[in-house]
Amino acid sequence: MKTEKPDYYFETYGCQMNFAESAALKLTLNGRGWREADDGESALLVIINTCSVRETAERRVFGRLAHYAALKKKRRRQQNPLFVLVCGCMASRLGGELTKNGADFVMKTQERFIFSGLLAEIEEWSRHGDITRSIQAQEKNEENEKDDENAENRRETFSFAPSHHVEGSFRAFVPIMHGCDNFCAYCIVPYVRGREFCRDPAEISAEIKTLAERGVREITLLGQNVNSYIKDGVDFPSLLENIARDTEGTPIKWVRFLSSHPKDLSLRTIQVMKDNPVFCRHLHLCVQHGSNRMLDAMKRRYTREAFLELAAAVRAAMPEITLSTDILVGFPGETEEDFEEILTLMERTRFLYAYMYHYNPREGTAAFNLPGRIAPEIKTARLKRVIDLQMKHSAELLRSRIGDIEEALVEGLSRKNRGELVCRTEHDEMLVAEGEAPLIGSFAKVRLEALSGNTLRGHFLK
Ligand code: SF4
Repeated sequence: MKTEKPDYYFETYGCQMNFAESAALKLTLNGRGWREADDGESALLVIINTCSVRETAERRVFGRLAHYAALKKKRRRQQNPLFVLVCGCMASRLGGELTKNGADFVMKTQERFIFSGLLAEIEEWSRHGDITRSIQAQEKNEENEKDDENAENRRETFSFAPSHHVEGSFRAFVPIMHGCDNFCAYCIVPYVRGREFCRDPAEISAEIKTLAERGVREITLLGQNVNSYIKDGVDFPSLLENIARDTEGTPIKWVRFLSSHPKDLSLRTIQVMKDNPVFCRHLHLCVQHGSNRMLDAMKRRYTREAFLELAAAVRAAMPEITLSTDILVGFPGETEEDFEEILTLMERTRFLYAYMYHYNPREGTAAFNLPGRIAPEIKTARLKRVIDLQMKHSAELLRSRIGDIEEALVEGLSRKNRGELVCRTEHDEMLVAEGEAPLIGSFAKVRLEALSGNTLRGHFLK
């Protein structure tokens, strides 16, 4: 069967960086005349953008590959082939193993340059009904697998897409750097994404200018560790100053950035945030643990005391700011005393929310062979205590907001009640309020009136 306009379908897993990269690939597909399908069942090409941070995320992708392998057999019988392309961190980590599990093409994070060639091959089939696998691209894939250990090579071949905008969206991600040099003991990212590679400030400015012209209201700068950005003498606070200038007088009213590593968040960055209200009064500052012994074992390179001082400096500069974080419990060797220090740090810092997880060994990371693994039932029990405490803090912080009037960006219709709109404040608080779809994408003043569960309820002010 020939397809006049080929269809694609995306499955994206993992972090915001993956969603930004999927958006950039979609722009390439749309630019070549492809259409986005509603599901993978009918599409000619399924692209799975993957995450390797946790084993569960990888298992899920293997499940999806098995699903598509069965679908491919059925479609082949109907003379209606399906191609599956796997990209993202699993592509970098597992390479050819994915082709044995049903992927037709594997594109590592540093290999976006092969994407157009792959599409050309599939389009060729689409036009002529001739299934020719992209031999060239496959060979290129194999060559790059040999270079997999060569971080310098990856550094040279990585390039940022010119745009990561989801067409029509009023919010956008802007990647400013890729990869990571920190090698935290538990983390696979530096091995799969490669070393830190910062984007040219002029390219960042150009992307932001285009987003402003398209009426985007909020941007989020992305990087594994944005605070260590440096390119051509422009460091992160200088980049923020440029962005404050670039967004002045444009529809972009809010700028966020993540992730922030406590060891690299400078006082100058805090000052630039304070001086420029375009930067949202919310900071995601990943603490991971509260015990110095564990922070050292995790190779985080800051102490509990330094983190608390930093959080205090941020709050002294911007008292209205909210903080959120990542917390990892059950790292090898964690004693009950170490664990208790997470709870006391949480009490002192009072995060608005946290991404909480327990340690799972990832092969290839420094912590994989560490002795002192914590029993699963202890990890689970500790995680529950962290979650319970965080829920309590979230509820208390949100409840203290009742009665305030806050500006919020209206993000969309509530899934639970189509007569309500989901909004977000600059402090990253979610709220719902009764309202109509035309408000979506605009800023509105909301009176915060109640808390149900961990969701604020509000009322739009005329
Ligand atoms: S800073 Fe640490 S946790 Fe974050 S991506 Fe880099 S190695 Fe992973």
